[in-house]
Amino acid sequence: MSTIITKGIVASPGIRVGKAYVYHGDKIIIPKYTIREDEITYEIARFEKAVEQTKEELKAIQEQIARNLSKDMADIFMSHIMVLEDPQIEEKVRKTIIEQKRNAEWAINDISLELINSLSSIEDDYLRERIIDISDINKRLISNLQATESSSLQDITEEVIIFASDLTPSETALMNKDHILAFVTDKGARTSHTAIMARALEIPAIVGTINATSLVKNGDSVIVDAVHGRIIVDPTPEEINEFRRYEEEFLELELELAKLTNLPAQTLDAEEVFIYGNIEIPDEMKIIKDHGAQGIGLFRSEFLFMDQSLPDEDKQFQEYRRVVEYFNPMPVTIRTIDVGADKVYAYTNHYKERNPFLGCRAIRFSLENENLFRIQLRAILRASNFGNVKLMFPMITTIEEFKRARNITEEIMQDFRSNGTPFDEKIKIGLMIEVPSAVVNADILAKYADFFSVGTNDLVQYLLAVDRISEKIAYLYNPLNLSVLRFLKQIVDTARNNATLLSICGEMAGEPQYTMVLLGLGFRHLSMGPIYMYQVKKVVRSVSIAECESLVNSLLSMESTDEIEKLVRKKFKEKIDLS
Ligand code: PEP
Ligand code: MG
Repeated sequence: MSTIITKGIVASPGIRVGKAYVYHGDKIIIPKYTIREDEITYEIARFEKAVEQTKEELKAIQEQIARNLSKDMADIFMSHIMVLEDPQIEEKVRKTIIEQKRNAEWAINDISLELINSLSSIEDDYLRERIIDISDINKRLISNLQATESSSLQDITEEVIIFASDLTPSETALMNKDHILAFVTDKGARTSHTAIMARALEIPAIVGTINATSLVKNGDSVIVDAVHGRIIVDPTPEEINEFRRYEEEFLELELELAKLTNLPAQTLDAEEVFIYGNIEIPDEMKIIKDHGAQGIGLFRSEFLFMDQSLPDEDKQFQEYRRVVEYFNPMPVTIRTIDVGADKVYAYTNHYKERNPFLGCRAIRFSLENENLFRIQLRAILRASNFGNVKLMFPMITTIEEFKRARNITEEIMQDFRSNGTPFDEKIKIGLMIEVPSAVVNADILAKYADFFSVGTNDLVQYLLAVDRISEKIAYLYNPLNLSVLRFLKQIVDTARNNATLLSICGEMAGEPQYTMVLLGLGFRHLSMGPIYMYQVKKVVRSVSIAECESLVNSLLSMESTDEIEKLVRKKFKEKIDLS
């Protein structure tokens, strides 16, 4: 019997069967010895040379990544170089060599550990990411002092699946795609640099497994199912065959579905449906366009700045402009930052909230930090001159909030008119409906907003009072709960009655088994990540609005979520089975 050993977060989709290679990082032995007074100058020179050599290496990696991937990806290494160039760190190493007469490796290692220890005690995801940067640099410096190769992942010459406690962005970026079939890490989340790299390199990856490395050894046969987030160790020959078939089917299905790229998303009864993409960083825009999306329905702008202490206007403008020009004349809906809750960065407040999801996040953070908000609005408005931008505010709870955000935007527009800064005078300004109060007051919000976009990820969490990131109560988090369906129906009706443009951009929009439900409820504009975009389009093209409406009528007459789910699954399977 094989065991499903662990589950994790799908960072990059795909299915792979292969041999495990447990990567423990570079096993560097740190020599520790004291030096004589007359050796101090030599030791410092060794240290300086290693710093220069490491900088050269990092710059070379940066250039390679900029050439092969993108400038954005390459910029991730800027923070590594900045750590190396930090005069305080350099001074500390020098002092340790001079005063404690320690060899350079020992001094560097002690100071890195000191920095890592002080950072690990801080509750801040951004600063925690820096720990990986520091240990990466530590390894490189010590390797250079000892003239050893720093990355053994590059030396792998046979096909393997990497298991590692964590991987640094440089280790991921330098992976050889011909040999590394997939990777699995104990640590990490979907937005870690490593996960972003995996998606950009199209290497299937599962992160955040907590314990996968302790459950495999080198050479174990493993299946990585980075569609459902499962890892199976020592599978039976039958299972291997089954997954190999599954892997082939997955690839074939992708190829088959890719034929839909240029076909319209139109139902059997000729109703036009619009499919847009959700992106976190500009680099994802190509894959979204290649999948035939008709623009960007949600640009989660906060992820652009995870590496920066403070987002500056020009940097923002350049990034928005890049996406806007790329999609022009298609729309790009830029959502102002949604930091706070589970997304806390260096520039957000450091005080800990008791209920972060109910705290100072999204538009609340922006209105509280009006200067930052104005910088972002200026950048977005400037970018609007280069294409079809829509501006969207997240987590609007009160009518006043929306009016205030809109007023601030209009003040900036007025400034731009007076100083001759060009922007799109007809820019549409809308809001995300993701808090129950916005559903209840949607008719009033419709007076002030040009469009609504429903964020079901949060709407489900706030309506059902279920923390969207809690595994313990995940069984309660169900978008098919009758109250959610009733709410969605209410939003559609209000938007129709007020002629307000309506779209939906939560994960629900990108789940093919919910497509019939959403069409039946009346949604026509769906925005999603690229993973299931083809499948959603396939469903759209295989159904009629009439049958979707009849399905929704039946669902709305049911009380139990189980019953609703069963009928939704049955209809989906009947119409189209892509699983
Ligand atoms: C949502 O809440 O549905 C949404 C799209 O926003 P986010 O997932 O970024 O909170
Ligand atoms: Mg949300």
